[in-house]
Amino acid sequence: MKKTYDAIVIGGGINGCSIAYQLAKRGRSVAVIEKGRLADKASGAAAGMLGAQTELTDDGPLFEFARKSRAMFPELARELEELTGVHIGLQNRGMYRVAATEKEAIELKKLIEFQTKSGETAKWVSFQELMEQEPHVSSSLIGAMFIPNDGQVDARELTIAFAKAAMLNGAEFYEFTNVNDLILGNEKAHGIQTDLGPMYAESIVIATGAWSPFLIEKTGLTLPISPVKGECLSVLTNKPLIKGTVFSHGCYIVPKKSGRLIIGATVKPDTFDERVTVDGISSLMEKAKRLVPGIGESELERAWSGIRPLSKDGLPFLGEHPSCRNLYIAAGHFRNGILLSPATGELIADLMDGKSKDSGPFRLSRINSSVSA
Ligand SMILES: Cc1cc2nc3c(=O)[nH]c(=O)nc-3n(C[C@H](O)[C@H](O)[C@H](O)COP(=O)(O)OP(=O)(O)OC[C@H]3O[C@@H](n4cnc5c(N)ncnc54)[C@H](O)[C@@H]3O)c2cc1C
Repeated sequence: MKKTYDAIVIGGGINGCSIAYQLAKRGRSVAVIEKGRLADKASGAAAGMLGAQTELTDDGPLFEFARKSRAMFPELARELEELTGVHIGLQNRGMYRVAATEKEAIELKKLIEFQTKSGETAKWVSFQELMEQEPHVSSSLIGAMFIPNDGQVDARELTIAFAKAAMLNGAEFYEFTNVNDLILGNEKAHGIQTDLGPMYAESIVIATGAWSPFLIEKTGLTLPISPVKGECLSVLTNKPLIKGTVFSHGCYIVPKKSGRLIIGATVKPDTFDERVTVDGISSLMEKAKRLVPGIGESELERAWSGIRPLSKDGLPFLGEHPSCRNLYIAAGHFRNGILLSPATGELIADLMDGKSKDSGPFRLSRINSSVSA
């Protein structure tokens, strides 16, 4: 088989699908190659928080990028639903970063000050106010930082919506197809070797999450991304226990439709082992019960895990390979790949179109390494 496209995207996670959507929408012929099923890795495991202010607490390019991406969601949700009929579950009931100690309260108040100066909305709610808004949280808490604009989505549905929207714009998807190698020559990427044979394209995008270093290695570049396992569970409650997301050190509880709560997530660095452990899940259950005691009576639904892609400096890699033309990388989104997916798709498409010249702080040339292709 010899297949030729304008662009091949490797990886059917949220970032690969978002990029494919943007490219297909702009008229490119696109193929997405996924070794398993779409959204079966980190993107299907995510809790779906759009935690620009909850998760990203330092000023800098990632905070800016996250705020930009978060702002894209309302229009994106409408656009994807209109096109595909898929509801991405966008909700905006805010997040509470709770404090259990005076020290945590002081830190959160400083964060509120910084975010308010950055033009964002965040406010301190006292214990009494917290109890009025969320009467089922633990009485051991002393207050919380309330972030009204950090919403949430259904991460798997969003990935599928991007994929369907890309298909409706002509993109082809190949699931259960492994990319074994890149076809390189004259410092340029020409195609890929897959289980189905070679495929060729003007541009190749590697969006393979925590697995990205393996394909990029073929170009002589060591991509500093490591795997970080996260486990989660979901429970079902008879009556709604919380309206907003409750977020603390080491545990968050995200309310979904129909009384479902997602409780996450463990953090285990340097492993691709996706087994769900008793230790992981029991520690989350204990922490969740300390935050919202009523969870003890809820029905356990299921537990799962995913592998987050962590880059060494905490910033994703977005852009063209430093010495191999037409090879793009979009990987390393760690805990925020769902939040960052709309802006990631747009940025990679803009770079290919020449609408953006450079991805600034996310560019690959920040890797200090000798590269050959
Ligand atoms: C438990 C947990 C909770 C999370 N919660 C949130 C959250 O609330 N909000 C948020 O923003 N983020 C969250 N994240 C992070 C988010 O899930 C990731 O940052 C994001 O999913 C990364 O998406 P991706 O498309 O880059 O990678 P992935 O989703 O991992 O997709 C990469 C794809 O590439 C495929 N692939 C790999 N190698 C090959 C190959 N050789 N050939 C073909 N295909 C290949 C894989 O099979 C995979 O499907 C969470 C992550 C975890 C694990």
